[in-house]
Amino acid sequence: MTHAPVLPGATICFLGDGQLGKMSLMAAHQLGYKTIVWYPSDKNGNNGPAMEMATHRLTAPFYDATFDSSAAIDEVIRKADVITTEWENVPLSLIRELERRGAIVRPSSRVLEVAQSRFREKMMAGELDIPTTKTAWVPANTIVNHDWTEYLPGILKTDGQGYDGKGQYRVNTVEGFIAAHQKAAVDCVLEKLVDLAFELSVLVARNASGEISVSDVVENAHINGILDRTVWPVKDRGFTRSKLQEACDHAMKVAEHLGLEGVLCLEFFVDIEGNLLFNEMAPRPHNSFHGSIEAAHTSQFEQHIRAVCGLPLGHVKFHTPFQMQNLIGGNWEENWAPVLHDINARLHLYGKSESRPGRKMGHVTTLELNR
Ligand code: ADP
Ligand code: MG
Repeated sequence: MTHAPVLPGATICFLGDGQLGKMSLMAAHQLGYKTIVWYPSDKNGNNGPAMEMATHRLTAPFYDATFDSSAAIDEVIRKADVITTEWENVPLSLIRELERRGAIVRPSSRVLEVAQSRFREKMMAGELDIPTTKTAWVPANTIVNHDWTEYLPGILKTDGQGYDGKGQYRVNTVEGFIAAHQKAAVDCVLEKLVDLAFELSVLVARNASGEISVSDVVENAHINGILDRTVWPVKDRGFTRSKLQEACDHAMKVAEHLGLEGVLCLEFFVDIEGNLLFNEMAPRPHNSFHGSIEAAHTSQFEQHIRAVCGLPLGHVKFHTPFQMQNLIGGNWEENWAPVLHDINARLHLYGKSESRPGRKMGHVTTLELNR
C-alpha cells in the first residue's frame, strides 16, 4: 500500500527515548514536524534524552501480554501521522497491533522481526548470498549433541536484546560454552570468532516510493564490544575500495528485500584474509553515523525523517573527513571540557540523568578541515 508523503506540519511518533531519538527529533523539528515520544518511564520515573524534546509525551507501558495499552494506542493513532522507532526492540506485538489498526509504521513489523533476532539476520544474509560469520542457533535450556569445536573459539550472544557488547560471552572450550549458555538462560547464537582486520558500517535509506540512497562507508573501532571511534574516509589498505562497494551493494540488496521504509545500518567485519562478513544490522540511525550531522550533505537523522515521511531522500555522503569519538560513562567527565577549545570539534552531550560505566553519554565529531 502506498501513501501520500507525510508533509512538514504533520506529527511523527517515536517509540523509544534514547539519544538516537533525541537527534532524530531535532531533525524532525528542523523540518517543521511535530513529535510524540512514547516510552515507558524507568522505575524511578526518569525519562531519557528524547522525551524532553517532544511536542507530546506518552510514558504509558508498552503493549504486552499483561498490560492493555489500548488507551495509549488510541492516542497515538489519533495524534500521529506516521510512527517510527529509534530502537529495534520495541515489542513486536505493539508494532503489529498498530499496523492492524491502520497506523503507518515505518520501518514495518517485517523489518523489526528480522532485526530483533541475530539468527534471523544471519539467515537473511544467507538467503541473499551475503557472506556472514559462521553461526549456530542455540535455543534456551537445550544444547543438542554436536561437534561445537567448529565454532570455537567463539562468542555466545543472546539472540535478542543485545547492544554495546551486552549479552555476549567469549568462549574457548565446549565446557566454557555450556557454562555461558546456562548463565544466559535465553535463546542464543554461537558465533565463531573472526580474526578481525577492521570493521565497517554503511547506512542505506529507502522510502515508500522505492527510492534508495546508500551512504559512504565508515570504519569503526570497538573497545570491549562498545563502539569507541568512527572515521571517514576508511584507511586504504589496497583491497579496501572493492570491499566498500561490496558493502554498499549488500546494503541495497537488504533494503530491497525487506521493503525498508526508513534507514538501516549494516555492520561488517573484514577478516585478516580480506573477506567482508556481515555482522548485524539496525533499522534506525546508528552510532557510527553520528559524524553525518556535521560532515555529510544530509545527516542520518534527517535521512531517517525523510525516509519515514516519504520525502525525497538526501545524501549521507561526506564532504569533510572526520573522526567521531564516543564519550562513555567512566571517563566522559574529564573528556568533554577540552573539546570546547578545539575549533574543529563539535560536542554532543545527551543530557542523561545518570552516568554508568559503559553508558553512552555523548560524542565528539572532529572535522579535518585543514587537510
Ligand atoms: P552489539 O549488538 O553489542 O553491537 P556485535 O555483534 O556487533 O554486538 O558485537 C560487538 C563487537 O564485538 C563487534 O563490533 C566486534 O568488535 C566484536 N565481535 C562481535 N562478534 C565478533 C566475532 N564473531 N568475531 C570477532 N569480533 C566480534
Ligand atoms: Mg554491533
